[in-house]
Amino acid sequence: NGEFHGLAAVVTGGASGIGLATATLLAARGARVACLDLRPEVPEPLVGLRADVTDDASVRAAVADAAERLGGIDILVNNAGIGALGGVEANDDEEWHRVFDVNVVGMARVARAALPYLRASDHAAIVNTCSIAATVGLPDRVLYSATKGAVLSMTRAMAVDLVPDGIRVNCVNPGTADTPWIGRLLSGADDPEAERAALEARQPLGRMVAADEVAGAIAYLASPLSGATTGTDLAVDGGMNGL
Ligand code: NAD
Repeated sequence: NGEFHGLAAVVTGGASGIGLATATLLAARGARVACLDLRPEVPEPLVGLRADVTDDASVRAAVADAAERLGGIDILVNNAGIGALGGVEANDDEEWHRVFDVNVVGMARVARAALPYLRASDHAAIVNTCSIAATVGLPDRVLYSATKGAVLSMTRAMAVDLVPDGIRVNCVNPGTADTPWIGRLLSGADDPEAERAALEARQPLGRMVAADEVAGAIAYLASPLSGATTGTDLAVDGGMNGL
């Protein structure tokens, strides 16, 4: 039972962090869930499927496989993404193309592959994992912010186009969310524990956002509870955007 009873969801980047937390929450509320990831090891009842969002053939095969195993697709959580640090001089053309290919083109590829299935659903929703970097200038994150700005614009434009198909499209803007991603960033510091404490102290709420809290926002935008909401972004940032 639960609000996702009878619905099928695909979550990209679903084997870690925000994606895994979202897949787990949707499954707990009744959805059948497939996690598409480079390393798709996920606990039951989640279905792990290997996919690289930068490879169109891989995306098409995994989305078709997911639809067959789940009996269709009602919800797409476009969440796979990678980071990039530095100012405008920090990354060369190759790196710009590489990060855009994952964070922006990757989401378009998965949406393209999933749309035929979503059109057949009476409860279709796409939720893209964007970032507060799309709406607030953050230090040392020019390339990453540019990709997330593109995700926000793509979300709004897709929402307009897909109204006639009954498919809602929204995004969430996490602030600093405590996932393995942040763990990898902190592990590069001289004193990771001190760096973690300093990072927490810089957050308006005095702590990072939990992956489960981002998952809650994604689940809301994926569920019929948000049936009148499309083309919007929901910040889950502990107040970064406003306090
Ligand atoms: P994470 O590194 O824990 O998880 C990301 C997952 O995406 C991994 O399992 C990885 O294998 C997968 N992935 C990466 N490249 C892929 C590819 N080419 N094909 C398929 N899968 C791929 O990170 P996370 O923190 O959970 O981040 C998830 C999303 O949240 C990203 O889009 C990220 O930009 C966004 N986000 C994170 C934060 C944060 O503070 N953690 C803040 C804002 C936005």
